[in-house]
Amino acid sequence: MTNSIPYGHQSIDESDIEAVAAALRGDWLTTGPTVAEFERQIAAVAGSQGAVAVTSGTAALHTAYAAAGVSSGDQVIVPALTFAATASTASLLGAEIVFADVEEDTGNIDPDAVTALATERTAAVAAVDFAGHPAEIDALLPIARSVGALLVEDAAHSIGSTYHGRPVGSLADLTTYSFFPTKNLTTTEGGAVVSDDAALLGAARAFRSHGLVRDPELQRNPDEGAWHQEIHRLGLNYRLPDVLCALGLSQLRRLEEFKASRSRVFDRYVEGLGGVEGLRLPTKREHVDPMWHLFPIRVQDGRRREVFDRLRAQGILVQVNYIPVYWHPYYEDLGYRRGLCPVAERYYSEEISLPMYANLSAADQDRVIDAVRSILA
Ligand SMILES: *Cc1c(COP(=O)(O)O)cnc(C)c1O
Repeated sequence: MTNSIPYGHQSIDESDIEAVAAALRGDWLTTGPTVAEFERQIAAVAGSQGAVAVTSGTAALHTAYAAAGVSSGDQVIVPALTFAATASTASLLGAEIVFADVEEDTGNIDPDAVTALATERTAAVAAVDFAGHPAEIDALLPIARSVGALLVEDAAHSIGSTYHGRPVGSLADLTTYSFFPTKNLTTTEGGAVVSDDAALLGAARAFRSHGLVRDPELQRNPDEGAWHQEIHRLGLNYRLPDVLCALGLSQLRRLEEFKASRSRVFDRYVEGLGGVEGLRLPTKREHVDPMWHLFPIRVQDGRRREVFDRLRAQGILVQVNYIPVYWHPYYEDLGYRRGLCPVAERYYSEEISLPMYANLSAADQDRVIDAVRSILA
């Protein structure tokens, strides 16, 4: 039996292991100097003023929406084609989700759809950089601005990507990352929120740590004693520990290497699968330089399920990204109906994510290419 090939996989080397061991031997384990250094370097990669490290990409979205002031009665516009957390974290804050359809080529939120849906009730517009390809932020920002909403970029797929030469993280009001093992870099579980706005960063930092106010100048009862901290707005414990930030710092040193490897994988798929009948390969627009997280193919003629099952049967552990969020029973029970976002539904019905990660060997990739070609031949 040949080995199985996952759709995504981390790349951990000895330098990562040594960095974690050194943090474990240190004094802090959790909130110490490594967190601050990781945040400084994430902000540098993002081209933003600051970063707040949190425990997952989901926590990052929850924290970003909370910092944006999203609460009950608000609407949040979310693309239908994304991981459910882009919507569920806003739902948890009491917002009503308004699902926007996506662009037919990139699978990213369609600015025209957002224009049609934005109202004065819109508190935030979320854009997802599907597969690592940045969404059309320059079109989305003015639409969000025109109704007084903030633009949140869910960049779980796209740390390391650029848009018109500018890094993802420097584009929207708030940008969130995920450092889950299959993502572009990992801290095991982990995530971050970045922004240029000091008030948004302060709100995110407070939400990450119970909303505790430690600065006496900002406290209501500063004379209580030197131990005193107080809560003005609720938050949670979303702190990312020093040990995991040490892994993140080590991984960041390899970010360019990861980008180059993922780029090589992308190009090899384009070369190996170009011209296959019944197959569409991902689009790349002129003005973006993606760090590819996924390689989403689209299988025409209603054969997606067959191709998926046959690849899985050969140990090629492909994935489907994503079921339209409102197909989840939770949203269905709120009254959202199939047919709402036809472009996203079509994209979903054809999509398969092929194995894509920095350490994917040429031999394993050729096995994937040959399998897809022979199934569709
Ligand atoms: C992975 C992912 C998330 C959630 O990140 P976690 O770190 O797994 O919590 C959110 N949005 C998108 C688009 C993702 O791919």
